[in-house]
Amino acid sequence: MHTSTSGMGEFSLSVLAKARVKTDFTSINLCDYVELHLGANPGTKRVELTQQQLEFAINAHRNGIRCQCGAPIWIVGSSQAGLGCFACITGQAVPDHDYEIALADEVTTTRPT
Ligand SMILES: [Zn+2]
Repeated sequence: MHTSTSGMGEFSLSVLAKARVKTDFTSINLCDYVELHLGANPGTKRVELTQQQLEFAINAHRNGIRCQCGAPIWIVGSSQAGLGCFACITGQAVPDHDYEIALADEVTTTRPT
């Protein structure tokens, strides 16, 4: 039996489509990011960072608030610089392995009061 290989072209098309995804964040858990940020910024108070800055940006993201340009907000940057997307906050077109909070894991760290 001889099998035809005429379907090969469709595979390379889907690979190209994947390569066009332009965001290139490094996903990080909220807890890991807090440790990283506090390590890099010794003057930062943990409570201020987690309960004010990050929570503010995460809530905004959850509520569907977007950057003034219409793009989704960048939580890590928004917690420090005010709500905005990566491009508007940094002036760079695309992230270069900059950190972004992985929200799926963050849910479990929020305790009801
Ligand atoms: Zn923007």
